[in-house]
Formats: sequence, structure tokens, C-alpha cells
Amino acid sequence: MITVTEAEQIILDLINPLNETENITLDNALNRILAKSVNSNLDFPHWDNSAMDGYAVKFEDVKNATEKEPITLTIVEEIPAGYQPKVTVKAGESSRIFTGAMLPEGADTIVIQEKTIKENNQVKILVAPPKIGDCIRKKGEFYQAGNPLLKAGICLKSAEIAVLASANCDNLTVYRQPKIAIFSTGDELVNINQDLQAGQIVDSNQYALAAFVAAHGGIPIKLGIVKDDQQALKESIAHAVSIADIVLSTGGVSVGEYDYIDQILAELGAKIEITSVAVKPGKPLTVANFPQCVYFGIPGNPVSALVSCWRFVQPALKKLSGISNNWKPTFINAKSEQNLKSRGQRETYFWGKLNIKEGEYEFELAGGSQSSGNLINLAQTNALAMIPVGTKLIEKGEKIKVMQIN
Ligand code: AMP
Ligand code: MG
Repeated sequence: MITVTEAEQIILDLINPLNETENITLDNALNRILAKSVNSNLDFPHWDNSAMDGYAVKFEDVKNATEKEPITLTIVEEIPAGYQPKVTVKAGESSRIFTGAMLPEGADTIVIQEKTIKENNQVKILVAPPKIGDCIRKKGEFYQAGNPLLKAGICLKSAEIAVLASANCDNLTVYRQPKIAIFSTGDELVNINQDLQAGQIVDSNQYALAAFVAAHGGIPIKLGIVKDDQQALKESIAHAVSIADIVLSTGGVSVGEYDYIDQILAELGAKIEITSVAVKPGKPLTVANFPQCVYFGIPGNPVSALVSCWRFVQPALKKLSGISNNWKPTFINAKSEQNLKSRGQRETYFWGKLNIKEGEYEFELAGGSQSSGNLINLAQTNALAMIPVGTKLIEKGEKIKVMQIN
């Protein structure tokens, strides 16, 4: 059995980032990975503009203004946002200006309107602005045209989409989404919406894995249930690897009589890289390499299946999708709210909630059984706490490493 860290590295080494791209518009950009860096030919801000509603003035004119001895300036123009100023501000003059409006020639400072009194075409400045240039957003202060605006390899979320929109950039080159084939194995499995006969269960893994894949920007291809039958499995695996970048199958990788996956993968010419990992839950994990595709044979127990996805498939999906770094999960130090026990032989994961109490992270174990078959209490958990190999007990109040999920 190899360690979790070894398995993680083997998996990442097997994955090559997608190099196929497609062009999309910004409306379709959420969660896509930028494949070409974006530069803008616009400065940000595009021109000097006012950060406040007030008066555009010459600092020299108003630097000694006080409430007792206000400075009176003549208003020569009104400049709303979206309007190009036409009048140059000269000594003794000011322009009425609004947030986002272009600064007029001659002015170098904004006095906010709260520090003024307007009387007809004159304004009294009651307080000197703190410095020349106050409340002006200078052209190019946030970004200068031609520099990289967004780099290739980042995932586009609302902030990045806002940046691209303001740069007037509606045509983006992104990586195509990875295609992930998913199927379940087991004679006990039936599709949803059917009456369950004795011994049967609904194939929940198909739904769990498809949701996991979609949440990570992949396209799930649900191939359904395959019986524990060698010929059927062989055909299904051969089909799955021919259409996908990654295949995820659940079940049939244990040591039971009907666990055929590893044998069939070998028959199909795959190079088997991993057969089991010193992890709990999720020990029987098969990872095999085909020329165009990496195959994950994931244990069938529903908790093991999702923990395997979060811990091992997630980094693979990130790397495959073109994200340029941070593929591995990050762990946070949190205080354990319970005693957590392990045999110390496998890296052991517990599911529960990462809470913040009085500014500190705390891990609260999910109530009920931590059995790898109990997916019921996996709902509404948001974190996995990890006990490393060699540690048998984390006492209540001690720190534990916690991986955030979802
Ligand atoms: P296996 O890995 O095939 O030995 O299955 C281990 C356990 O997980 C058994 O209790 C199975 O019934 C259950 N199981 C396997 N596949 C699924 C599935 N697709 N959905 C829900 N439970 C499953
Ligand atoms: Mg099975």
C-alpha cells in the first residue's frame, strides 16, 4: 500500500493539462479556465476622474480654506458622469463634478460637496482638502494598458468576469471542459425511480460523482450501471476510455469475488499505477493509465467514493482543466471538538463541520456513525479532518488538520 502523498503525486504526474481551447463570450465564462492571457489596451481608470461628488478646483486656491475664512470660487461648468468637460478651470474657478465624471483641464483636486456651500454660480470652500490630488482617480492608477490583465490558467469567477467586462473583452479563449465518464458497477444497483426489490439499492454514486464533476467544471457523462459481469464490464470500460479524458467507476475494486475491475483494466492494456492506498475510508483505489485517459476505479461505499473524489480526483481535475497551480487540497489547522481515534496505520479522514468560534477554527465531527457506508450524515458536512499515519488519538481541544470540501 502506498501513502496518500505518494498516490497524490502519482496521479498528478499522470495528468496532462488539456491543450484544446475554445472561444466563448463573457456570458458563458463562469467557472471556465482562461487559456490565453488577456491584455487590455485601456488604462484603468481610462482618464482622470472624480471619486466623489463635489467641486474640481486648483489646490493652490483652496489650501488655506477654513470655516471661518472660506474661499469663494466661481462655478464655470457642471460635469456629470459620462460628459466630456469643455471648460478649463482657472485660478479662482471651479467646476461642479460628480462621481466618475472626467476631471476638467486646469483642476488638480476635488473638494467633496459636504465641505462646501453653493450660492448661485459660486461655491464657498469651507475646509482645505488634505492634499493636492485628493479624491481624484488618476488615469492608469489601477492598471496600465498593455500589461497582463488576467493570466492564463485562472478560473473565471464574478470578480474576473467584472474585470473582463470593464476591459470591453467579450471574446475569450478558454480550455475546453474535461469530459468525465462515470459508471457504477454492482448487481445490487438499480436506477432511480424504480421500486426496490429485496437486496437492491439505488445507484447513488452515479449522482454523487456527476454532481462532483460538474461542480469542478467538468462535463459528466453518465454511463449508468454495469453488472458484475466480466464481459459487460470489459465493454463498458473500453467504451468509457474511448470517449473521456478521465473515467470514474465505482465498485468492484475490492478483494471480493466479484471485483473484476483491476483484472479487466490489465486485459485492456492499461498500466495499473495504484491498486490501494493507505487511507481510510477509500483504501481500494485503482488508478490506471490509458494512452488518452486516466482511469479511477473508486470504491463503491458511498462515503469512500466521495472522499476518494475530494482527496484524489479533485487535484487531477484541476490540473487537467488547465488551472495553473494549487492543485493539491489545502489543510487548515482547527481545534478538534471531540476525541478522534485511528489505528495509526492509514491516513484517516473524518467528516464533519469546520466552524469558526471566537475567531478560531473548530472541527465538529458529524453525529452518528463514521461508517464508510453511512452517507446520510455526510450531508451538510463541509470538511474532512485528517489523522496522519502514526497518530492514534487526537484529543478534544487538540489541533487537527482539516480539508475544506464544497
Ligand atoms: P463494492 O466496492 O462494489 O464492494 O461495494 C461496496 C459497498 O458499496 C456495497 O455495500 C455496495 O452495495 C455499495 N455500493 C456500490 N456501488 C454503489 C453505488 N453506485 N451507489 C451506492 N452504493 C454502492
Ligand atoms: Mg460491488
